[in-house]
Amino acid sequence: MSNVLVLVDHTGGKVRKTTAELLTIARRLGDPIAVYIGDGVQDALPALGQYGATKVIALTSPELTQYLVAPKAEALQQVAAKVEPSTILISSSAEGKEIAARLAVKLDSGLITDAVDVQAGPVTTQSVFAGNYSVQAKVTHGTPIITVKPNAATPEAAQTSPEVEEFDVSISDTAKTAKIVESKPREATGRPELTEAAIIVSGGRGTGGDFGPVEAFADSLGAAVGASRAAVDSGWYPHAYQVGQTGKTVSPQLYVAAGISGAIQHRAGMQTSKTIVAINKDEEAPIFELVDFGVVGDLHKVLPAATEEVTKR
Ligand code: FAD
Repeated sequence: MSNVLVLVDHTGGKVRKTTAELLTIARRLGDPIAVYIGDGVQDALPALGQYGATKVIALTSPELTQYLVAPKAEALQQVAAKVEPSTILISSSAEGKEIAARLAVKLDSGLITDAVDVQAGPVTTQSVFAGNYSVQAKVTHGTPIITVKPNAATPEAAQTSPEVEEFDVSISDTAKTAKIVESKPREATGRPELTEAAIIVSGGRGTGGDFGPVEAFADSLGAAVGASRAAVDSGWYPHAYQVGQTGKTVSPQLYVAAGISGAIQHRAGMQTSKTIVAINKDEEAPIFELVDFGVVGDLHKVLPAATEEVTKR
C-alpha cells in the first residue's frame, strides 16, 4: 500500500475532528502516516491511533511553531522527500491552505483545495459557484496535495498502535521572516467549534440584534451558533461566526437558519448541510427553497418554544 501523509490539526496535543476525518479519507487511499508538528505528540497518540494512523512522524523543532506557515511547508517538503507519499492531505483551514500552496510549489505538484470528498484515485469533489455545481478533479502532476473541508467524511475508527518517529528538519532563514509574537485563544463559549459542529443554529437580521433565543436553542441542542453577514455587519455577532461566501463553510448534520432570508452568499456556506431547517416569518423567503423543514413564524416565539420542548426531553 502507498503512504498517505496527513498533517495533524491540533491545539497543544488535542487533535481536532478534522484530523479524524482526514485519517478516515486517507485509509481509502493507502496507509495513513500522521505528521505531527509541535509539542504534545504523546497526548495526540490515542486519537491518531483510533483513526488508523500507521505511524506518527513528530516534528518538534521550536522553529516550526515560532514562525508563521513557511517553516511548516519546508518541513513537510523534507518529510515528503523521505516518505515519498502518494498523496498529502491537509485540513482546509486558512493555515492549512497556505501550507498546502507553499508545499505544492516546493514539490512541483498539483494542488486541489476545499475538497468536500476524496475517493480512490485520488479523485476529489469540490463544490463551486456558491455550491451550485460539483466538480470532480484529479491532480495530474507530481504528488497530489489536497486540502479537505471539515465534515467531508464521517470519522470512522480503525484502531492501530502507531509508533512515533522523531524527525529532524532544517529550516532556512528565508522561511523565518514572520515570527508569531503573541497568540491568544478565543474567549471560550463552551459551544462546539463552528466548522466542526454536528448541529448549528444561525441567526440573521430577523433576530433584530437579539441572539438570546438563538443561543438558548443552540445550547439546548449542544450546537454551535452561526450568523449571517447582515447580523455580523450590524455588529450583533462576531465575524468569526459568519457563515457564507465570505465567512465559514459548514456542513453539519443539522443547520437551523433563524431570521435568515437565504441569499446566495449565505447558501454558499451552508447548503451542503445534511438537514436544513428554517424559521422565517416570510413564507416567500428564498431560504425555504432549500430546506428540509420550514417553520413560518416569528423566531422570537418559535425558538423559545422549541428550546422548551427540547429541554423537557
Ligand atoms: P435579510 O436578507 O435582511 O433577511 C432577514 C430575514 O429575516 C428575512 O427573510 C425576514 O423575513 C426574516 N425575519 C425578519 N424578522 C423575523 C422574525 N422576527 N422571525 C423570523 N424571521 C424574521 N451573507 C452571508 O450571510 N454570509 C456571507 O458570507 C456573505 N458574503 C457576501 C459576499 C458578498 C460579496 C456579498 C455581495 C454579499 C455577501 N453576503 C453574505 C450578504 C448576503 O447577500 C445577504 O445580504 C445576507 O446574507 C442577508 O442576511 P440575512 O438573511 O440575515 O438578512
